Amino acid sequence: MKSTRLTGRLAREYQTIAHMMQIYCKDHCGQVERDQGICPQCRELLDYAETKLDRCPYGDTKPTCAKCPIHCYKPEPKAQVREVMRYAGPRMLLRHPIEALRHLLDERRPVPKRPPMRSNRARKRPPAER
Ligand SMILES: [Zn+2]
Repeated sequence: MKSTRLTGRLAREYQTIAHMMQIYCKDHCGQVERDQGICPQCRELLDYAETKLDRCPYGDTKPTCAKCPIHCYKPEPKAQVREVMRYAGPRMLLRHPIEALRHLLDERRPVPKRPPMRSNRARKRPPAER
């Protein structure tokens, strides 16, 4: 599953969360119609996560969500995503070991002092509108 609007580090992060959602959905969501391994309800949450990645003020210097000082998720999707991560996190090491390791390494990077305020979305706007 690839993001159509994210690039670089953010696109990789999307890929990782999409894989986590696939693992979680397969084991929790029962017999539902799945598009690319994910049910409509989980798709909605994944789309929400993609939008948040797109608008992250850290842009390509984004820290991992667990360490981020900005609380950009609303309480409900935040609780849902946390649940997905708790379940799928350990399982990622077996299913997608390289992504899982990369995330663990990212987890150890220091959080940038201040967001450069150049989100993926902002960088795509023409200069006059910035
Ligand atoms: Zn699901």
